[in-house]
This record gives sequence, structure tokens and C-alpha cells, in this order.
Amino acid sequence: MGKLMNAQEYEESLRKLNLNVYLFGRKVENVVDDPIIRPSMKAVAATYEYAHRPEYEDLLTTRSHLTGKKINRFTHIHQSVDDLVKKSKMGRLMGSLTACCFQRCVGMDAMNALSITTHAMDKEYGTEYNRRFLKFLEHVQENDLTCDGAMTDPKGDRSLPPGRQPDPDLFLHVVEERKDGIVVRGAKAHQTGAVNSHEIIVMPTITMREEDRDYAVAFALPSDAQGITYILGRQSCDTRKLEGPTFDRGNLFYGGHEALVVFDDVFVPWERVFMYKEYAFTTQLVENFAAYHRQSYACKVGVGDVLIGAAQTIAEYNGAERASHVKDKIIEMNHLNETLFCGCLACASEGHRESGGTFLVDVLLANVHKQNITRFPYEIARLAQDIAGGLVVTCPSEADLNSPEVGKWVKKYYRTKADVPTEYRMRILRLIENITLGTAAVGYLTESMHGAGSPQAQRIMIARLVNMKQKQKIAKELCGIIKGDQVS
Ligand code: SF4
Ligand code: FE
Repeated sequence: MGKLMNAQEYEESLRKLNLNVYLFGRKVENVVDDPIIRPSMKAVAATYEYAHRPEYEDLLTTRSHLTGKKINRFTHIHQSVDDLVKKSKMGRLMGSLTACCFQRCVGMDAMNALSITTHAMDKEYGTEYNRRFLKFLEHVQENDLTCDGAMTDPKGDRSLPPGRQPDPDLFLHVVEERKDGIVVRGAKAHQTGAVNSHEIIVMPTITMREEDRDYAVAFALPSDAQGITYILGRQSCDTRKLEGPTFDRGNLFYGGHEALVVFDDVFVPWERVFMYKEYAFTTQLVENFAAYHRQSYACKVGVGDVLIGAAQTIAEYNGAERASHVKDKIIEMNHLNETLFCGCLACASEGHRESGGTFLVDVLLANVHKQNITRFPYEIARLAQDIAGGLVVTCPSEADLNSPEVGKWVKKYYRTKADVPTEYRMRILRLIENITLGTAAVGYLTESMHGAGSPQAQRIMIARLVNMKQKQKIAKELCGIIKGDQVS
């Protein structure tokens, strides 16, 4: 291929995959056209389509450091601070265009983390992981592929390490070594965009110790490799997508999905293995991936843009936009949303060069950003529901609006301003419902909480990374407990 795909070409490329997908207890024969899955495919397709628009070209495309060819930024290895900043802006842009999780960042983050760690392992052990990784990367860039980045293991009993779980498969591990590769068994949970991906990149989920070295494994496989099964997660209000093109869906175009991905004795050829028992490098790989992915939560700023736009619109429809408390709530929503933007820009602007030339975000600031993401979208959503009023959860369906019997009552009694059709009011309320309670709330709220690590994971990193000694030193100097070199 060697070119940037558009939405149509991306969709066609997915049709060629032979994925083993289950939903509602049944195998999905046609994944691309399944009405529950399709909106999530369309959200990924947007990352392809908008890359062809001149106004977005600078953010959504760049040049490959391997081949010099123009590539989609979602397949790029960051070569500068400018690349990192553009990645944050790209996340906000795509979130603001789709109002949901567009799924493609997680593979980008996995590749950037692997580009650092494969290089570092080769330096330490004389292995050839980086060469293998770069070959894989070129394949991804040349074919403009979407990759799932799979880190989260089911983890079983949280008080036990991988090797001491009653069921050894609760963390993905190597079960057999062959001449031509390895065989792995286990699962990865909450996999964003898994069935819209061409490739799946697997990494360990936590720091592994020597006794758990069989669990220290990273690799990439085509998403339809033999032995991989996808079991899709349910979402609140998901079956509304089965009701046809009704505006009750809220977001008429896009959505996201997550899946449990099972690896039932899956063969991985050596060429696709990027870590094999080098447990000492698992911390670096996990923390760098987490930092990149915490930066990627720039996406929620874009979804916040849409929610704020919807809140302002419903305020105007209700005739409440000039009330001082409504204006102040909109200001608060914007303040919180732009504060989130500051965080993802800051961790990018403070990025630095790592092993092999890959640029990494400032890890402390990326964790601070993600910690804010676990909180502010909830407050923004609360304010949106406050402004929207109770109708956001009591609104009748589109079918009632169009009913020959009761439609006239719905139109009459849910009318606000004379020039605002009741239908418009219902549509914008459905969008607010979708983002704060429905299928998109998975992405805007609970994924904000737990995606890229739950809040406590960031707090541990913040505690570890702040320079407390330095803060104490200056404090003690300024009050005379210890002597410093202050200007007297
Ligand atoms: Fe990307 Fe955001 Fe979805 Fe994660 S939640 S995959 S960062 S769009
Ligand atoms: Fe996520």
C-alpha cells in the first residue's frame, strides 16, 4: 500500500480480517457492519479521513523518521518536543470531532514505549529487539495500520503476584518456547478499539520480578492470528444502536468499544517478539507506556468541547443563557476543560529525548494531567446535567415525538422558545445524555477514571517523582534551619 488510507479504504481493509468476535453470546460474522460495533469503527475511520483534510494535515500527518514518507501521526515515533505537542493537540482535535473514544492512540503509545525499551534492552543485552521492532513499525507505517495496545491483564487476586495466582493464566505468559517462536496464553481486559485494529501489541501490565520472568513478554500479532478471541463489553444504552437511525442514540455517527481479548495458546514468531523474559525492563516499559497514554487523555478535552457546546445550546434553547448562574457554570466548565488542556500541553512541552532518539513526555506532568482527567470530566458532566435539567433523563423517544397519537403533546409540552423546534431540544439533550450517561460516558467518564491506570496509579507516580528533598531544602534554608547561598 504505502499510502495514507481514507475512511473507505480503512473500512475495506478491516473487511479482509478474519476476527473471532463475540457479542451478546454469539459470534459476530460481519464485524464491520454490526450496528453495535460500526459507530466505533467510524470513529477510528475519522482518524484516516481527516488526515486528508488540508486544515488538519499538520496535526494528523507527519514524516516517518524511518522512510521519510508522509504518514498518519498515529503511526509516528515522536522525534521532537514539537511532535509531542502536536500529539496532544491531535488528541483534543479528534475528541472534538467525534465526541467519543477514537481508539487509535493506544497503539501509538505502545509503539513509542517499545521504541525506547527495545533500544535500551539491546544496549544492555546485545539482543535484536529494536531491529525487529523497527521492521514491524515500518509495516505499520507503510500500510497505515491501526494497532491495539494491550497492557491490562485480568490480574485475578490483587494480593498475589502473577506466578502465585491459583490460575496462572490471569496474567498473560509464555507457555512454550519453540525454535521458530513462542506460544502465549492469557488475556487482556478493557481493550479499546480491539476489533477495529489490524495489529495487536501486547506488553506486560506490571513490573515483573525474576520469578515471574515468563510473564515478561512483549510482542505484536495480526489481530486475526489463530487463537485470539474478542468478547465485547456492554455499554449503557448500547442497544439503542439496534433501533435504526433514531436520534435517541445521541451521537448519530460515532462511538467506542472495549473488549476482553483472549489468547488461547497463540503462536508468536521470533520476528514479532520484542521482549522475552527481560523482567528488569518491565518497569520502564510499563511506566513509559502509561506516561504516553496519560498524555493521550487530551482526547477528553475535545469531548469536553462538545459537551460544553451542547450545554450552551440547551441553555439557549431553554431561554436560560443569560441567567448569571448559567453563565458562571459555562465559565467553570471552560475553566476546567482548558485546565485539562494545560496539563497535556505541559507534559509534552517538557518532554525530552530518550534511548534511541524517541521523545518522551515529562512523566510527572503526564501523571498530574491524567489525575485531573479522573476528576474534571465528572464535574463538567455534572454542570452539563445541571444546565440541561431533568429532561435529560425523562425525555420521551423520537418515536413518541413522531407518534400520530401523542406526538402533538410531546411537541407542545416540551416546547421552550417559540423559534426552537421541540425536536432540536430533544436532540441536544440526547447528546448530553450520550456523553454523560450513555455509550459515550464509557469514554468520557469511567474511562477517564480507569483508562491508562486508575487514580491511585498516578498518585503513586506523583509521590515518587516530585523532588521532595529539594522542596524541603529551600524551605529549611529560607527559615534558617540549614545554611544555603541565598542573597543577603
Ligand atoms: Fe485514545 Fe482517549 Fe480512547 Fe484512550 S480514551 S484510546 S486516549 S481516544
Ligand atoms: Fe483508553
